[in-house]
Amino acid sequence: MGVTLADILGARAVIRGIADGTPFVPSPFMSTLAGQEFFLKLETMQPIGAFKLRGAVNAVAALPRDVAGVTCCSTGNHGRGVAYAAARRGIRAVICMSRLVPQAKVEGVRALGAEVRIVGESQDEAMAESLRICAAEGLVEISPFDDARVIAGQGTVGFEMMEARPDLDTILVPLSGGGLAAGVAVAAKTVSPTIRVIGVTMDRGAAMAASLHAGTPVEVREVASLADSLGGGIGLGNRLSFPLCRALLDDAVLVTEEEIRDAMQMLYFEDRIVAEGGAVVGLAAVHSGKVRAGGGPLATIVTGRNVDMSLFTRIIAGQDVTIGDRTVRGRAYAA
Ligand SMILES: *Cc1c(COP(=O)(O)O)cnc(C)c1O
Repeated sequence: MGVTLADILGARAVIRGIADGTPFVPSPFMSTLAGQEFFLKLETMQPIGAFKLRGAVNAVAALPRDVAGVTCCSTGNHGRGVAYAAARRGIRAVICMSRLVPQAKVEGVRALGAEVRIVGESQDEAMAESLRICAAEGLVEISPFDDARVIAGQGTVGFEMMEARPDLDTILVPLSGGGLAAGVAVAAKTVSPTIRVIGVTMDRGAAMAASLHAGTPVEVREVASLADSLGGGIGLGNRLSFPLCRALLDDAVLVTEEEIRDAMQMLYFEDRIVAEGGAVVGLAAVHSGKVRAGGGPLATIVTGRNVDMSLFTRIIAGQDVTIGDRTVRGRAYAA
């Protein structure tokens, strides 16, 4: 259905030595909390600080030799991955982002030599600009999630996890457009059909969760969140990531801003890992009691580390942080 294990194994060969082989480590603290072994897949260790490099490298590698360049819309990390992959190939990259994208992420894209266009107040507006440029300037558009090569690239994360621990019972996947969840679910369920794959996202403005609930892609108003990487629509004409998530995800769980804050603190204090809000939602789901361990080991993908460091240090210090229209109250960390 759209993307198969064979596509993921193909991607694995393409990204080898560039975007693969991140650490997969047990978290003793999370294991105690969950009452089962709990593993972290540290995509924070990717050269761009997020898993998105996998899909981007796989998609860019497939472009024809004479391609003029690439464009995409992004909440920050896909743009960074595409910029990195385009720079390696020596082609032009134009990255469209909305005003909701944090400055730290915009700078990260720029530092890789890509052209940046800031347009509108939502990922959907950035997407419209990306499609316009693609026609006007002869560039190839690379969707952050609704692209078979991107999904296959992201699926390599799941394959690496299953290779290390084929006995995993549950994988918790941060969920936005669903490219990661779709790829991971294809890999994991092909290897182990009984495994649970659960998408986790924020409780405000999560388009995939709302679409799964509605049974068809729907639009949701995008709002600022600590999990900024999880914002944005899935496209009303979604072809691949929605049907795959609908067929393969066992559940979609929502976590609050406070639960995301707690999980960022927990991962930092207990495991000494710096991660962005969107990356810790799998831990938040277990910490909040919204997901319970089944009969075997659990794992989550710590998807990225590209957080604004002044925001991160405020959260760690237990200070209030203002995200868009709302303040998340500070709270000192307590195990
Ligand atoms: C993009 C992203 C996600 C979600 O991936 P999708 O394929 O859009 O569902 C999760 N975490 C981080 C850090 C991301 O950048």
